[in-house]
Amino acid sequence: MAGCAHLDQVLVTELPESVPGCEDCLAEGTEWLHLRICLRCGHVGCCDNSPARHATRHFESTGHPLIRSLERGEEWSWCFVDELGMMLPEGTGSTRIPPSPLMP
Ligand SMILES: [Zn+2]
Ligand SMILES: [Zn+2]
Ligand SMILES: [Zn+2]
Repeated sequence: MAGCAHLDQVLVTELPESVPGCEDCLAEGTEWLHLRICLRCGHVGCCDNSPARHATRHFESTGHPLIRSLERGEEWSWCFVDELGMMLPEGTGSTRIPPSPLMP
């Protein structure tokens, strides 16, 4: 299996204590389902099951390749370039997140 060659782009090594939600959804008034954080710049976006798919759009506009899930109990990361899921030692800790506006 080919590895991810973008690990040197991981600059966020500690997850924030809490986030208010998807920052682009909060700015645009859209709703998110699951939250992902960019491991390069700390941008918080929403998953591909969210209507606005801000995590993917952040990758498309910035080229930042790696995200990590902020969902409780989810520790995986994802490289958009390699389309590869992995567990990284970086991004430790857990983040308090608000409930999704799309969840009942
Ligand atoms: Zn990669
Ligand atoms: Zn969003
Ligand atoms: Zn980023």
